[in-house]
Amino acid sequence: MTLNINLPRILRVGGGARRELPQVLQSLGVCRPLLVADEFMVAQGQVAVLEEALAGQGMSLRIFSGVVPDPTTESVAAGLQALAGGEHDAIVAFGGGSAMDTAKLMAVMATREGALRDYKVPSTLDDGLPVIAIPTTAGTGSEVTRVAVVTDSQTQEKMLCMGLGLMPVAALVDYELTLSMPYRLTADTGIDSLCHAMEAYVSRKANTFTDAIALTAMATIAGTLRTACSEPDNLAAREAMMLAATQGGIAFSNASVTLIHGMSRPIGAHFHVPHGLSNAMLLPEVTAWSVGAAPARYADCARAMAMASVEDSDAVACENLVAGLRALCRDLAVPGPEAFGIKRSDWQAVLPLMAEQALVSGSPANNPRVPVAEEIIVLYEKVWAA
Ligand code: NAD
Repeated sequence: MTLNINLPRILRVGGGARRELPQVLQSLGVCRPLLVADEFMVAQGQVAVLEEALAGQGMSLRIFSGVVPDPTTESVAAGLQALAGGEHDAIVAFGGGSAMDTAKLMAVMATREGALRDYKVPSTLDDGLPVIAIPTTAGTGSEVTRVAVVTDSQTQEKMLCMGLGLMPVAALVDYELTLSMPYRLTADTGIDSLCHAMEAYVSRKANTFTDAIALTAMATIAGTLRTACSEPDNLAAREAMMLAATQGGIAFSNASVTLIHGMSRPIGAHFHVPHGLSNAMLLPEVTAWSVGAAPARYADCARAMAMASVEDSDAVACENLVAGLRALCRDLAVPGPEAFGIKRSDWQAVLPLMAEQALVSGSPANNPRVPVAEEIIVLYEKVWAA
């Protein structure tokens, strides 16, 4: 069977890559970009750096700064209004996953009628305006994925959208932009990357191309994330985490995520838990529930992350994996749902709905052990009690 791998046309990785934006726009033959970011990132001053670089090449940059954390159909609609006013031929996405997903959804909806909910999976969105992604977290990997996530403002469902139109044509992956990330954001987005790599590796859609990238990303993240959190100015740790985040994105976009992400999106939608953090809450329990269905694959993950050795049996490696993931979450002070501030009664009230929404996304079907709704509810309860 042939592998179907999708990647951006241009990928520039390294310190200072963001400064290559004018040259990349020129090579793509576009000259009227709209930059999509949030107010905070614009205020930080990095957008002005890009504006100056473009002005030097005779290009001007219009800015839409209405990105909200975890984009909604309403915030994407506001972006589309800004886009309509400017005869733009490209979109520059600048920020974390929220800015990149907003930009990607604007790019595909610019040429379509109807509402975003009409295009969630299993529909596909295969064309749109070109997007040049510049990530500032490490990270969602959205700069290299044909995926975007958006919450329906009417139903609060966190919808998954997929298709080649959502794949950026270019990504400028510059770790220098992540130096300003505070502790919690570094930890949560780093665990998001780890979930991408692990889920891609154990996914039923895993393949030889994604396996190697996923194992490399896992090894880097397990060896570096604690340092990136405790030493925010450590350039080597920031650089390694940024590359691993992009690798995690490449892996999952071409192999899919599984049960952790399937269960994570509803938590984010109902309780406004940041995406990486809801993954982190789920990571140890969902892994413990799943290892028995693919012990050799999970054992590979443990060995890649130096949580087990080649001499350890797969069973021992799987035990060590679960223990190692618990230790990582403990060291990075990952709160449970209660410590995050969610009320038990609110959590209980939406469990059946969250289980249904997890299943509808399709991600749980890629898990080595495929759950039914009741089992997902039990897992959510375990996560509460953990
Ligand atoms: P985010 O984009 O929501 O940003 C969180 C906060 O961090 C924002 O307030 C932002 O201003 C701030 N921030 C961003 N970069 C910063 C920096 N360098 N320094 C200081 N502050 C910074 O966070 P995220 O975790 O990157 O993205 C989460 C979103 O991405 C979710 O909506 C999730 O569903 C989505 N996602 C998408 C994909 C994909 O492939 N499309 C994959 C995973 C997650």
